[in-house]
Amino acid sequence: MPEGDSLHRAARRLQVLVGERLEAESPHPQGQATGVAEQVDGRRLLAVDAVGKNLLFRFEGGLVLRSHLRVRGRWRVLPRGAPRSGRPWLVLRGAEREAVLWNGPVLELTTRRVRRLGPDVLASEPDLDRMVENLRREPAREIGDALLDQRQVAGIGNLWKVEALWHAGVSPWRRVGELSGAELRGILEHAVGLMRASLDGDREPRAIYRRPVCPRCGARIRARGQGDDNRTSYWCPMCQPDAVS
Ligand SMILES: [Zn+2]
Repeated sequence: MPEGDSLHRAARRLQVLVGERLEAESPHPQGQATGVAEQVDGRRLLAVDAVGKNLLFRFEGGLVLRSHLRVRGRWRVLPRGAPRSGRPWLVLRGAEREAVLWNGPVLELTTRRVRRLGPDVLASEPDLDRMVENLRREPAREIGDALLDQRQVAGIGNLWKVEALWHAGVSPWRRVGELSGAELRGILEHAVGLMRASLDGDREPRAIYRRPVCPRCGARIRARGQGDDNRTSYWCPMCQPDAVS
């Protein structure tokens, strides 16, 4: 699944089309089946934002196009009419450039689902207070699981979850109710800082995600699936104590 920061990069590239009236077409039959191209064709694009794991295209007339990329979906911005092979799901064509969506797989006109997302971790002023409040609604949940719940905090993928918890010195296995407000805030601040740095291109090397040893103390990094989706959490048993063993 693309991490939140790669979606934000895509949203930045797509800004060149904002303000333009776009021609839309769906060369791929599955893209055509969504009916999106007919609906947005000829409308002016007002904004493109990454919200959680979705790209939202706001068009005049109140239409909002939601594009969730899952693992394989990719948006590219090319000169108008650039040659290509294969059939993209959707092409949004402006006067000089066009945005091309490859491999869908989720494309729909909506305003419904996005309202249920929590505050975006990469917003220009992330609402940390509300994120902490949201997390605390389920005190029995393990923090490594809760941070991936997009209804509580939108945009933290598994990699940044792992790294933020390590920087904050908090084990992914501790329960939300055991953590102080300062600890929860600290984790979120690390997530924001790391993801912003990555977005700006100065990506720090990963500290422990898929690494064998802790760069701080030299202990062996542990890894185990966590939560309903069994996403792999990595943690240092020395720097992030209170881990179950
Ligand atoms: Zn360590």
